[in-house]
Amino acid sequence: MDASSGPRRLWKTRCPERQARATDLLRTSGARSRAFRPQGGSGSAGVHVNGGMPRSRCTAALVANVQSLENSRGVRKHPGVDTADRLADWIALVDARYPERDAAAWDHVGLQVGDPRDAVTAVLVCLDVTEATLEEAGRLGADLILAHHPLLFRPLPSLTPSTAAGRLALRAARSGIAILAAHTNLDAAVPGTSDPVAAILSLTGVRALAPQSGPRPGRVKLVTFIPHDDTARVLGAMAEVGAGVIGEYDHCSFRVAGTGTFRPSAAAAPAVGERQRLNEVAEDRLEIVVTRDRLGAVVTALTGEHPYEEVAWDAYPLVDPPPPPEARDKGLGLVGMLPAPLTLRQVAATLAGRLPAPGLRVAGNLAATVRCVAVCGGAGDSLIPNALAAQADVYVTGDLRHHPALDARTMGLALIDAGHYATEAAALPAFRAALAATAGERGLRAQLLASEVSTDPWTTYPGEGESAGETS
Ligand SMILES: [Zn+2]
Repeated sequence: MDASSGPRRLWKTRCPERQARATDLLRTSGARSRAFRPQGGSGSAGVHVNGGMPRSRCTAALVANVQSLENSRGVRKHPGVDTADRLADWIALVDARYPERDAAAWDHVGLQVGDPRDAVTAVLVCLDVTEATLEEAGRLGADLILAHHPLLFRPLPSLTPSTAAGRLALRAARSGIAILAAHTNLDAAVPGTSDPVAAILSLTGVRALAPQSGPRPGRVKLVTFIPHDDTARVLGAMAEVGAGVIGEYDHCSFRVAGTGTFRPSAAAAPAVGERQRLNEVAEDRLEIVVTRDRLGAVVTALTGEHPYEEVAWDAYPLVDPPPPPEARDKGLGLVGMLPAPLTLRQVAATLAGRLPAPGLRVAGNLAATVRCVAVCGGAGDSLIPNALAAQADVYVTGDLRHHPALDARTMGLALIDAGHYATEAAALPAFRAALAATAGERGLRAQLLASEVSTDPWTTYPGEGESAGETS
């Protein structure tokens, strides 16, 4: 935790209407009902109030629904807080910085509890939603908890205190505290959850341990020749199926006017010109970039929309420049090189001195030389094969289980288990700072508070000054 950026009590009086409304949060429908997003597994009896909507559309749909709900039902204004941020603003902000589409398919991120129309005056950033963090949010007057770990993750048969998630979600709703989660979308970001651990070791040349993007399809420059009056229509048809996309821009093309010539045979059926005579037609030379995987569809669109019987087109392969060294794919975990070789003992000592962990578990020869380090904040069992494939000397993560650890040792990979909490809590200050910067750009005014509650469920026994066997 970043003690220097701890919470400040800036807002003491809760909005009375918001508190009164808290009790009806569970009876809402439409955009509200999507707030509860339990995981749907096969055969699950869980509640599927999300209606199967693809996650990438959820946030946009929620925000769009705010306006339609306001129009249809009338907005209940909060006296005195008409100019406050709305929860919808914060959903959009988090999605802009950490897009929900970047989250793993099995994950449940975004709004979990709350009404996008509600006012937000203070946001508490934390790793987990627990009784303690809810208590902290209430004490600090935070009406939004922005947590790394989703509270609602597994299917909930009911929203009652009979389960831990149900108990906490119910308490949050009753207290008028919304919950928003940024989980694997934060893990995969650049920078993301694993960066602070990599920074502690000063890793260089870091890249994603499990990159999100596969190999990029190559590109071609498609060049075609179109009668001037038809150019816009043909361009539109090609762009409709994916031609001309460069970054965040589509319909990217270039054209110059010129003259086309052709002589149709006696059997031809020319759209313009005469058979068996040399014709000259005013045409545009249109250039447009196309990825190889879209080329077939684009050529089909071109020939389908072009007026000519025979359409002239050429596709030139393009050479992509190598990415700049600082460019990095999004993805889970990181792998990089130490500036100079260290022993495993030195790596462990460096991490133990900088992470909020009561101790580390180390598997491997402490005198072994380490050059390449793989890192994954949180529970990293599943990326052991990636660490092996990256030829890492040691893999730093948390929550490692017995058998995967034995398998890793068999394959020659050393392990450092620094704990789930410690390897992720280190990322919270940067997470909060990134959101604060984006909030400032968007003119949002809610206070961003850093939780001071440790949600690490573990303590080490015997602790400092204790010895095993003491009973008092
Ligand atoms: Zn985690």
